[in-house]
Amino acid sequence: MPAKKSPARPRELLFGDLWEFDPAPESAEPFIAPRYGLFIDDKFTAPKSRKYFDTIAPRNGAKLSEIALANAADVDAAYTAAAKAFPAWSKLPGKERGKYLFRIARLLQDRAREFAVAETLDGGKPIKESRDFDLPMAAAHFFYHAGWADKLEFVAPGRTLQPLGVVGQIIPWNFPLLMLAWKIAPALATGNTVVLKPAETTSITALKFATILQQAGLPPGVVNIVTGAGETGAAVVDHPLAAKIAFTGSTEVGKIIQRALAGSGKKLSLELGGKAANIVFEDAPLDQAVEGIVNGIFFNQGHVCCAGSRLLVQESVADLVVAKLKRRMQVLRVGDPLDKNTDIGAINSAEQLAKIKDLVASGVKEGAELHQPSCKLPAKGFYHAPTLFTKVSQSHRVAREEIFGPVLSVLTFRTPEEAIEKASNTPFGLSAGVWTDKGSKILKMAAELKAGVVWANTYNKFDPSSPFGGYKQSGFGREGGKHGLLDYAILK
Ligand code: ADP
Repeated sequence: MPAKKSPARPRELLFGDLWEFDPAPESAEPFIAPRYGLFIDDKFTAPKSRKYFDTIAPRNGAKLSEIALANAADVDAAYTAAAKAFPAWSKLPGKERGKYLFRIARLLQDRAREFAVAETLDGGKPIKESRDFDLPMAAAHFFYHAGWADKLEFVAPGRTLQPLGVVGQIIPWNFPLLMLAWKIAPALATGNTVVLKPAETTSITALKFATILQQAGLPPGVVNIVTGAGETGAAVVDHPLAAKIAFTGSTEVGKIIQRALAGSGKKLSLELGGKAANIVFEDAPLDQAVEGIVNGIFFNQGHVCCAGSRLLVQESVADLVVAKLKRRMQVLRVGDPLDKNTDIGAINSAEQLAKIKDLVASGVKEGAELHQPSCKLPAKGFYHAPTLFTKVSQSHRVAREEIFGPVLSVLTFRTPEEAIEKASNTPFGLSAGVWTDKGSKILKMAAELKAGVVWANTYNKFDPSSPFGGYKQSGFGREGGKHGLLDYAILK
């Protein structure tokens, strides 16, 4: 009788091997038109330039739609419409303006699923983020500012807020619809009219938003949307009818705009880059901190100006935190952003992917140690594995430059003073994170860190009532809360 074979010992399961998910693609229809005109005076119009450019889906590189390229004459038409609409809009009682904002917020909620899919297709971010973050936050901004529209006398007691006129607004590609909401909602609540330019790789949700304005019955010319790249943006900045320019984007372009506006008398707010320190003390709840670190750098593929891209860990727990972090990174799902299980989606463009790769290569060349989980990236489209650098020194490019991708650099410190010094060793000052068990340490750090937002035992939390903005080369001006309203008004 043959000897009984003992059952094979199961292969030791690695953390990350445990679950295999079937694909779970979001299937809602995004209703993307094959071609979009400019939105001027309540109508979609063909550009005077007669030019269009393609917008593509970063998840696979496929063409999604054609977008009008606005030239200076198109931008002029948009400003003319906004200037014509300004007297009636600014005189409308706040209560009436508020009703339009409420309507816009409600319509965004109604069409949230459609917009979430369009945002993910055009920008590459995971559907669970566009569905659970971008859309609800965009609607929340309109709700919040709808509430302010008839209460402006309470923003600065004893003073009155008067609108500026026509404001030109230029937004980036990382949170296309949300940045639009951050810009348009406070401008309309305070009685201004708008010319907005979305980023060239992500215009679709702004143009779909124009259809929400039509549904809401917003008077013609109150909001105008012009599409195109840097040249169109420059025409928005330079137009003589602009009373204010509000810009969110790179520090480099922010400087160009500031130079262009010098001496013009136009008001300016700039929300620019960042290289935030996420500081973990030895007394922090480390598992929570690891979740916060992951959220801080891998949310939206790291395409976040306030991303916690420099991790500062107290030396005594550094090895432990890095080990936990590596284990956590191993189970992040990288892949098709339309899949509901995806944690890290597609990089917004081939150009941005090349920039990330270049900075990662510099990290390796300069002697930092690279760690990436074993993950298979889709063959088509633009993808980058979540990346961790240890043995980083402060002079390395990966510790100094904004990467705007899923790349984290780890530095260590011994004392709170050293943490503050290292955290401040940057030309940026947008945000910071502090992880500790001690309230007194949080207060000390928050008081001494030169950053517009300091998160304590959390990261990347936003609320329309909380002002957001930077110091140093991260810009000036605030968005959200009372401070944000003041940036769209003259105080009398
Ligand atoms: P990023 O580097 O994150 O792509 P940019 O600062 O280049 O950010 O772009 C942010 C926004 O600024 C986009 O809408 C872009 O088209 C616009 N832009 C680019 N160059 C200029 C410029 N010279 N003047 C005005 N707007 C510009």
